[in-house]
Amino acid sequence: MDGFEENTGVIVMAATNRPDVLDPALLRPGRFDRRIVVSMPDVKGREAILKVHTRKMPVGSKVRLEKVARSTPGFSGADLESLANEAALRAARRGAKKVEQEDFDYAVDRIILGLERKSIIISPDQKKCTAYHESGHAVVGIFVPEADPIHKITIVPRGMAMGVTSFLPSDDRYNYTEKKLLSMLATLMGGRASESLFLETLSTGAGNDLEKATELARKMVCEWGMSEALGPVAHAQSGDMIFLGREFNKTRDYSEHTARVIDSEVKRIIEEAYSISLELLNDNRDIVEKIAEQLLEKETISSSEINDIFGELRPDMGPIPSLPPISEIRETVDPSNDNPEQEEEVRENDGSEENRTGSETDTGGSGGES
Ligand code: ZN
Repeated sequence: MDGFEENTGVIVMAATNRPDVLDPALLRPGRFDRRIVVSMPDVKGREAILKVHTRKMPVGSKVRLEKVARSTPGFSGADLESLANEAALRAARRGAKKVEQEDFDYAVDRIILGLERKSIIISPDQKKCTAYHESGHAVVGIFVPEADPIHKITIVPRGMAMGVTSFLPSDDRYNYTEKKLLSMLATLMGGRASESLFLETLSTGAGNDLEKATELARKMVCEWGMSEALGPVAHAQSGDMIFLGREFNKTRDYSEHTARVIDSEVKRIIEEAYSISLELLNDNRDIVEKIAEQLLEKETISSSEINDIFGELRPDMGPIPSLPPISEIRETVDPSNDNPEQEEEVRENDGSEENRTGSETDTGGSGGES
């Protein structure tokens, strides 16, 4: 830092996750004038981090760390370390000498989806409702354009969820097209659509889906200018940036009229997604029923079992979306990498400075998504 005396060859480094509240005097040229954004690791980075944390562990020869890396988008280095520990603990509990792939898979599920609640008592009706709900997510998620590969479906309650359908993004995404976003919305609505189509009833199970879908649609309209009625204008009103301390006094910067248009546009987009999912499910009733049937029987089904169902019922369709080999994964790393959220949830990046500097901490919380 200059301005005091000549100190050549001395480099001072500092770290913060609140760059917005630094005194500008500190950031003048010659002082702390270089900014290096440390974002969440991408898939290659996660694999390398896993290698470090498993170095001292007896790891089985069949373990593929790249697979583990692929199933953990949005994980920080610390998350990956705890994942490795969790896998080791599970291996120890099994009395195994080595940590195997199944231990890593267990650890990923446990961290992403929460602990299985096997003791909870579920009535057969509830179970059927969950099976159709999850089957709906899965079938819509497979048929929509730009679909992500499916990972597994389960109706074993985990954490707060009664069932989970999880998709694995084939790469770390930094940018989404409108088409992809609509596909994601349709997938989210697939649970509710399936309930209404097959059981002619609606349950509270879709509450979380609706919340996520609404948030996503609102971002499409207000932040990403994807509504024709409003045009390419950003209507700031998000609470995401509270983490960076700037939005405490944020007031709405648009008129009552615009607010009404936003609401109706959000509704229109969600209804469009809902009708896409209804149509897809209606066209593929046999598959939804078959998956639900198998879920009721086995509780959890994997991507290969789903593939078998498609092979049997849609022999000319070809394989369902699957993960490309690791060598084909995009190598370029976008420096403006936001913190990708987990699983089928949205990862977004609007490229703003705040976004880039704010993505340092937790996964999954609103701060992490910033
Ligand atoms: Zn759902």
